[in-house]
Amino acid sequence: MKNIIFLAVQGAGKGTFAKKLSEKYGYVHISTGDILRERSLVDDELGHEIKNLIDNGIFVSNEIIYQAIEYRISQPDCNVGYILDGFPRNLEQAEGYNAILKKVGKDLGVVINLVIPNEILKERIIGRRICKDCGAIYNIYNESLKPKVEGICDKCGGVLYQREDDNEESMKTRVNTYFEVTEPIIDYYKKQGVLKTVDSSRKTEETFNDIIEILESEDVDN
Ligand code: AMP
Repeated sequence: MKNIIFLAVQGAGKGTFAKKLSEKYGYVHISTGDILRERSLVDDELGHEIKNLIDNGIFVSNEIIYQAIEYRISQPDCNVGYILDGFPRNLEQAEGYNAILKKVGKDLGVVINLVIPNEILKERIIGRRICKDCGAIYNIYNESLKPKVEGICDKCGGVLYQREDDNEESMKTRVNTYFEVTEPIIDYYKKQGVLKTVDSSRKTEETFNDIIEILESEDVDN
């Protein structure tokens, strides 16, 4: 059983690799962004507030996130292992997560840091397309990740869409926020000896093989 945290700037492939791991090992993929997007569809005050924050690339409050995480990792399906994609996102959340783990009696597990040069980030974010039905992720600028038919999912035939926050303006806010507040978590986990760094600028399968190797060995960076 492995609990995994993916740390990476948006566009580095967190969602793609989390989905692949979930298919391979049955780990539960917990994306705080997906949980929040779903909640933002509810036509009430909280739903509108969350939608507004997400559309502008601004963080949702820790209280909302902690509740969602504690509830989700306590579900029985998470006993097999789970992958956190999008949480923790700042030092306060990393500490908040420790408290949640203690409360629910689970281990931190492994932290995987996906690194990618800034130059290729833009293409990854602006070119991203997602299937409305099965959540499969494509990229229109990458030959190996392009859908066979424009706008249609290869896997299920669903319609592909572009996230509202996958635009240049929101991307800038999200990338800046990442380097200011999320990067310090890398040191935090490095000091605990649970961090592994993976170069995510290569082909999906190459990066994925590295991730598998890490999960199948017990060693972590010190
Ligand atoms: P993502 O799908 O991970 O890119 O998240 C989309 C948006 O959801 C972010 O830009 C934030 O507005 C919000 N969000 C997701 N995870 C968190 C989190 N851990 N803390 C605060 N806000 C979050």
